[in-house]
Amino acid sequence: MRDMRDVTIVGGGPIGLFGLYCAGLHHLKAALLERLDRVGGQLEHLYPEKPIYDVGGFPSITGRQLVQQLKQQALQYPADVLTGVEARGLQEIPGGYRVETSQGPVDTRVLVLTAGIGEFIPRRLNVAAVDQFEGRGLYYVVHDLSEFDGKRVLVVGGGDSAADWAMALANRASHVTMIHRRDQFQCHVDSQAKLQAHPRVTLLPNRTLNAVFGRDSVESAQLQFSDGSVVPDLLDVDRIIVAIGLLPGTAIFHEWGLQMDGHEIRVGTDMSTTMPGVFAAGDICTYPGKVKLIAAGFGEVATAVEASLHYLG
Ligand SMILES: Cc1cc2nc3c(=O)[nH]c(=O)nc-3n(C[C@H](O)[C@H](O)[C@H](O)COP(=O)(O)OP(=O)(O)OC[C@H]3O[C@@H](n4cnc5c(N)ncnc54)[C@H](O)[C@@H]3O)c2cc1C
Repeated sequence: MRDMRDVTIVGGGPIGLFGLYCAGLHHLKAALLERLDRVGGQLEHLYPEKPIYDVGGFPSITGRQLVQQLKQQALQYPADVLTGVEARGLQEIPGGYRVETSQGPVDTRVLVLTAGIGEFIPRRLNVAAVDQFEGRGLYYVVHDLSEFDGKRVLVVGGGDSAADWAMALANRASHVTMIHRRDQFQCHVDSQAKLQAHPRVTLLPNRTLNAVFGRDSVESAQLQFSDGSVVPDLLDVDRIIVAIGLLPGTAIFHEWGLQMDGHEIRVGTDMSTTMPGVFAAGDICTYPGKVKLIAAGFGEVATAVEASLHYLG
């Protein structure tokens, strides 16, 4: 792993994969490091079957299908795709950087960080009366949509991920109820309009999940109003999806000396970080107006690779 690469991409999610394609296009000697055993990031590991509607050129494509397309596009060019390799440390060496990884050092002239949110740790409700049903009808991560066919589903969460699950299941489940602790749902206005109009979907704001009941698996849910009072009637449900976000795990990049805004790396308009020759793109980066969308990340990583080219001279 000691050859000096022109560019090393840290993180094999959709943005890292597209970055690898961009590096290949410029005939850069590239490597991609991915800590998990498969590339694809959140799409592959958190929502392989969920349709994505907002990537240009694809009216609808599942997470896994988009990863397949990205892999095919990236691997037109020779590159080292190193899975099961976690970037852990960084030191400056003459002419570039040495990335310390779980499998030894990788030397590179330029780094493009596309590590997303780090690990995929779903934010949990941490209510014992709820979490004890995980694996028995309660899901923090959904891999197989067919497990919800014909079921009464409760989706907990008011953001885009929760709305996406509700939409993906609306025509498969017998009924979908989506609850959110606030009085306004936070998802895209279009998702909300479609969910509100769907005959098999009920949106309930100002509710949280208080407890789950069932003998072997989920049978009913007890909801609580935002003022703390318990909703008198139990909600009969067979499946519960909790989609209240992911916990960021990007602290190591702070240790590398990069300037962070909270959990994200601050970048300029060319995606440069505060360290020369280190660029960032996708969910891990931030700048005024940043949106965490795949479509936005594609543009960012194309810019980062172009800027790398100028940096390499
Ligand atoms: C349920 C859900 C639904 C979504 N739906 C949509 C949607 O419809 N449309 C949309 O545009 N966006 C959607 N998103 C958001 C979208 O998935 C993210 O914006 C996108 O995945 C960001 O891509 P990324 O490559 O920056 O990061 P990620 O997909 O998070 O990939 C980062 C990769 O880096 C790896 N990594 C992390 N740290 C290291 C390390 N130290 N060393 C090596 N590898 C490392 C990780 O394992 C991971 O594979 C959704 C998200 C969720 C959770």
